[in-house]
Amino acid sequence: MEPTLVLRPGREKSVRRLHPWIFSGGVASVDGQPAAGATVRVAASTGEVLGRASYAPASQLRARLWTFDADTEVDDAFVTSRVLAAAARRSNLAGFTDAARLVFSEADGVPGVIADRYGDTVVVQLGSAGADRWREVVADALFSLPGVRCVYERSDVDARQREDLPPRTGLLRGDEPAAETIITERGLRYSVGFTEGQKTGFYLDQRNARSVVAEVARDRTVLNAFSYTGAFSVIAAANGATAVTSLDSSGPALTGARRNADLNGVEAGEMIEGDAFAELRTLRDRAKQYDLIILDPPKLAQTEAQVARATRAYKDLNLLAAKLLAPGGILMTFSCSGGVSAELFQKVVAGAALDAKRNLRIVGRLDQPSDHPVPLSFPEAAYLKGLVLEAD
Ligand code: SAH
Repeated sequence: MEPTLVLRPGREKSVRRLHPWIFSGGVASVDGQPAAGATVRVAASTGEVLGRASYAPASQLRARLWTFDADTEVDDAFVTSRVLAAAARRSNLAGFTDAARLVFSEADGVPGVIADRYGDTVVVQLGSAGADRWREVVADALFSLPGVRCVYERSDVDARQREDLPPRTGLLRGDEPAAETIITERGLRYSVGFTEGQKTGFYLDQRNARSVVAEVARDRTVLNAFSYTGAFSVIAAANGATAVTSLDSSGPALTGARRNADLNGVEAGEMIEGDAFAELRTLRDRAKQYDLIILDPPKLAQTEAQVARATRAYKDLNLLAAKLLAPGGILMTFSCSGGVSAELFQKVVAGAALDAKRNLRIVGRLDQPSDHPVPLSFPEAAYLKGLVLEAD
């Protein structure tokens, strides 16, 4: 008998709306002792089978739906086809970049699986028991894509702890990755160190923002705060910025920023290694002004419980940035905390502008690019929001 997870009465509603998550509180019983990562049937309290899910006994997020069709089996062919279909949907990006997120977890119907392509290498993150269970099938599917020579695992994300899974990194298929992988996006080159870098190595999700920086940088002085490896700095410099300052607390990230400048034959500019909260204060105290400020902090709220504290941090940063903005300047400000809604973020930034006594107008909004889709049935996939603000 196939193991079956039976929902509490009423809890089938979200499943019927094609939402993929089942929390422990919604589960009435689990028959058949499924192992971590095993596929279970999902049934309403009436016994009606609603679909199939991966089971994660150690997690509050107890099951993630693979399919909402009672008759579909989850097997090698099924998982392979989901991965290949997701990758095929990115083909439109190939015209201007060789780096893209091929698989975005639940948003692509492959719960827990993230796969990012950098040239001939694919970096995978398996963030759930269900994803872990299908490691080999996912690796084979990705390795079968045209031009892929290496599939490398970077499953060292915090999410695995919540599922009682150990971190795992290393080669899954093909040749050991080159010491340096260089990607090309819209004619600019970036070095991606995915074996030790952050995320899977490059902030693919900021692609739309990179285009905006290219449009607005000309003749401006630029402060790129939370620069990481200076993607925005390189674009600004390559598009006519007069001076660029990159600020990050990570020395290796700034080394990467110098490398990226070299790769594109642009000035690396000033580098400030330090805590942005302190360094922005120092710049303010020195009465510095910039024509374009980019604020792209890491996820400041990891959980719902941290939203209030994160909100204060966003306010602090944006207040400092508003004060550092030259007349007519542009502030591009971001939050990648899923728990902070676009509406709340805008309110926080409005409060910061008010306290800084600056009039700021929204001249653009930014969110995730097309390779980080948000299904209408799964709004949780939306996490990145940005405002492009223009000062008087
Ligand atoms: N804008 C970058 C991505 C930024 S990721 C890009 O487009 O590539 C966030 C960055 O913030 C990381 O590089 C991290 O090292 C840095 N960081 C985290 N906390 C910081 C702090 N308190 N002060 C300065 N930098 C910080």
